[in-house]
Amino acid sequence: MATEHQAPKRVAIRDGLLTEPLDDLAKVRLQGSRCRHCNEVTLGRNAICPNCGGIDMDPVALADHGELWTYTVVRHKPPGDYRGPEPFKPFGLGLVELPDGLRVVSPIEGDVDSLKVGTPLRLKISVHHTGAAGEDVVAFAFAPRL
Ligand SMILES: [Zn+2]
Repeated sequence: MATEHQAPKRVAIRDGLLTEPLDDLAKVRLQGSRCRHCNEVTLGRNAICPNCGGIDMDPVALADHGELWTYTVVRHKPPGDYRGPEPFKPFGLGLVELPDGLRVVSPIEGDVDSLKVGTPLRLKISVHHTGAAGEDVVAFAFAPRL
């Protein structure tokens, strides 16, 4: 009997946060929802518009790029179930303004000392860690566009 290598199952770090399927990470985008009544665009798969309370929401794939609107640098390891690199490395945490008309909180990759408001960024989708059942947990970040 031949043994086949089977890739681990992939799941989004939060349900409804990423477009699917997750097999080709280069094609994965942030999942958004657009309200048919007021056009509000929100992050994630949402059934109810937080702006007008409407219940007619269309799924949309959000842009794969944006601009650094503001940021901070996390210099202390967060407590709890932090799953970043060990030993801990300071990282940027930014508000990324997307052309879709919303701002998204995101880790910002790259040198924390060269972050600047207005920096053009691109979406990065990657396997972040292995989940409890051996699955690949897929997460997002943004990195400076070169
Ligand atoms: Zn609405």
